[in-house]
Amino acid sequence: MTDLNTLTLAEARDKLRAGDVTSVELTQACLSAIETSGALNAFVHMTPELALERAKEADARIAEGGAPDMCGLPIGIKDLFCTKGVPSQAASRILEGFKPEYESTVSQQLKDSGAVMLGKLNMDEFAMGSSNETSVYGNAVNPWRRGNDDAQLTPGGSSGGSAAAVSADLCLAATGTDTGGSIRQPAAFTGITGIKPTYGRCSRWGVVAFASSLDQAGPMTKDVRDAAIMLESICGHDPKDSTSVELAVPNFEAMLTGDIRGKKIGIPAEYRMDGMPAEIEKLWAEGTEMLKAAGAEIVDISLPHTKYALPAYYVIAPAEASSNLARYDGVRYGHRATIGAGDGITEMYEKTRAEGFGHEVQRRVMVGTYVLSAGFYDAYYNRARRVRTLIKQDFENVFAQGIDAILTPATPSAAFGLGEMTDADPIQMYLNDVFTVTVNLAGLPGISVPTGMDTQGLPLGLQLIGRPWEEGDLLNTAYALEQAAGFVAKPAQWW
Ligand code: GLN
Repeated sequence: MTDLNTLTLAEARDKLRAGDVTSVELTQACLSAIETSGALNAFVHMTPELALERAKEADARIAEGGAPDMCGLPIGIKDLFCTKGVPSQAASRILEGFKPEYESTVSQQLKDSGAVMLGKLNMDEFAMGSSNETSVYGNAVNPWRRGNDDAQLTPGGSSGGSAAAVSADLCLAATGTDTGGSIRQPAAFTGITGIKPTYGRCSRWGVVAFASSLDQAGPMTKDVRDAAIMLESICGHDPKDSTSVELAVPNFEAMLTGDIRGKKIGIPAEYRMDGMPAEIEKLWAEGTEMLKAAGAEIVDISLPHTKYALPAYYVIAPAEASSNLARYDGVRYGHRATIGAGDGITEMYEKTRAEGFGHEVQRRVMVGTYVLSAGFYDAYYNRARRVRTLIKQDFENVFAQGIDAILTPATPSAAFGLGEMTDADPIQMYLNDVFTVTVNLAGLPGISVPTGMDTQGLPLGLQLIGRPWEEGDLLNTAYALEQAAGFVAKPAQWW
């Protein structure tokens, strides 16, 4: 029998139903895979006892019949999700020792459907980053390598631990979050699938806030079918999040027919960036051909405000972050600095925040505070908000013209080396998000699908952007692309 940890969610679900395997066996297979995966630094808090307990319960529930699809399936949870009684640090020193009294809605829904949490996954601190290098736990490592070169590569970020864990078969799937690309970029860097649903599809309650008007949770999975299965389980209205919508959650998996005949796929001119590597151009052209061959109509479109998206994002996201992170003051959560004689409460706040936050987080807090300050509010924050509206309108216009989905590259390059960008200007790192942030600014669903390889044998992904609330349709287009691309490669195990 194949190693159980290498199964997809769908395969494992079907085997559980057929009685070929138990959840306890699946869970044990993942736990042993994790045990030998220290070099990847993907899991940062393990919950093996809890996992085996939940797996036993799941086996009993499956035996009774009628259990939900996710029942008994072992998964990892990004450290940004609060999990009751289990460390939830958002990969930050400031949340050291924090064990929430409550469970995030998304992880609760997974728990309610019987999914088995194996532990918490590495990420960039407070989800700020594109390489998982801002984590207090140290970086996660991409299981993929460039040919025989043993240089370590980033799994992307901020959901780098989730991406590494799914790609290396440490778990069957994982949760991620995406504020500017943090599900889609790491998925593309590790040859897996990641979907950011429409803003409001999933509850943000209990997910440590980064930029609340942009943050969304989503699945990171081995393929599109699994993304559909897991998305169904985490979506839905939550009275505890006023931005979550009251909309029926469809059976996304049932919508995967692979039939996209007559669908209009837009190719946006503005995503053809100067200096884009030829490999990315080629991949995009190949993906376009694949959708065309599957019967879609390819339409050239224009999203004229694209070039302003990155600057607008890097004003809005830090602005919201500076406000959200004001609550970490050494009083209510986690780490508190030791203060000297004569220090007052202000010194306590200052020392705690200086010790507790890493450099990137401090940079965002400073930028955010600056753009929100009385003298600069109109020049930066309000202007960025106006740009955001224009970006949203660009999408509305093309959807009004009948476009069903938009195809773009997911990232401007394949996974880069760890350390390669850390000394560079932070803008270099921010450029990773050039194809993904527009989707968050407009609140749309976007999915990254592994579609090809670069010449060094690293996975490359394409992004499909869908109409709001039409994740089912988007997943189906992604499914058609996946079928045509036939990406089945796996990283060679070295860890
Ligand atoms: N890389 C982006 C940032 O650092 C996006 C992060 C995210 O989506 N959480 O802001």
